[in-house]
Amino acid sequence: MNPGFLYIHIPFCIKKCIYCDFLSVTYDESYAKEYVDALCRELALKKKSAGVLKTIYIGGGTPSVLPEESFKQLFRSIRNNFEFSSETEITVEANPGTINESKINTLLSVGINRISIGVQSFNDNELKTLGRIHSSDEAVKAIKMIKKAGLNNFSIDLMYGIPGQAMNSWKDTLSRAVGFSPKHISSYELTPEKETPLYGMIDSIKMPDEELVLEMYSHAIDYLASEGYEHYEISNFALHGFRCIHNMNYWNRGEYIGAGAGAHSFINGVRSKNTGDIKKYIETVNSGTIPEIESMSLTRTDEIKEFIFLGLRKTEGINITKAKEFGLNIPDSCKELIDEGYIEVSGDYLRLTRKGIVISNTVIVRIFDGLGLE
Ligand code: SF4
Repeated sequence: MNPGFLYIHIPFCIKKCIYCDFLSVTYDESYAKEYVDALCRELALKKKSAGVLKTIYIGGGTPSVLPEESFKQLFRSIRNNFEFSSETEITVEANPGTINESKINTLLSVGINRISIGVQSFNDNELKTLGRIHSSDEAVKAIKMIKKAGLNNFSIDLMYGIPGQAMNSWKDTLSRAVGFSPKHISSYELTPEKETPLYGMIDSIKMPDEELVLEMYSHAIDYLASEGYEHYEISNFALHGFRCIHNMNYWNRGEYIGAGAGAHSFINGVRSKNTGDIKKYIETVNSGTIPEIESMSLTRTDEIKEFIFLGLRKTEGINITKAKEFGLNIPDSCKELIDEGYIEVSGDYLRLTRKGIVISNTVIVRIFDGLGLE
């Protein structure tokens, strides 16, 4: 059975950003070509005939680093092995430093109808701090090219909490992003993840203090709402009708097929993962085997925890009737958090309040504790 959602991972970037813990290595043309060949073989191994795909999401890494011919090859393979239509949401992630008019036209010609562009900031100093390969001007040029090519369904990724970032600079970045009328904006807090260069630098660089970071987040929520963007998930904002369908499926615990090194799949209640070793990935697929290294059937407790922490990422919250199917006595078990104003009941949903959303991780841990979930 085809779950209707396909994720494809492209693990190459021009250069690693200092905060990045995604699976990606430095782009090399011939290695990337070998990889795309293998990817097409994996798609053939995972061929599914039942039903039209609702979404295809090509993420990374930097998918837009691939040459135009690789996109053509990839989409030939997707067409040969899956079914999709003009209604299918087909997203590609793009870095402003890796696209030009010709590539954008090729992306559109193969069927891509949504581009998520990683701008992060319109301040050159902040972009340098992050180790991004592009300038603010290049980001502006890339967005203009996308619009000129006739694609209005694009999303801009932004980041706050950058070392040295002042509130005014964040306000400027947000308003410049809105000025391009994107259908969707993602706004992520910069968090120093272990194993990243940024993590090793936290003693020597000054991270913005927690209060300022919370103010930045609050400003994004208020400002984007005033510009007509619905805050539909902790880090995501969209104009009406333009939520990311692919990501909504993750938060709704929907099933999906993943292809590529390190890609995850969720099918028939089993979460599985491909090897993240790119060389091994290519070798395994080329020998005709699906390159899976982990596969886990979810226990009831796993399902309940996912239901809560993924569900509460959405601002509509979790469905109380559905929670009952899991045997959860919600909202009674969360009374204390409700009294303290961190969560609230709205119709048949339990959701984070504005006070709760800014400390969502803490609130979720307390919900788990209240339900006796470890
Ligand atoms: S471009 Fe994206 S995936 Fe690549 S290193 Fe930077 S943050 Fe990571």
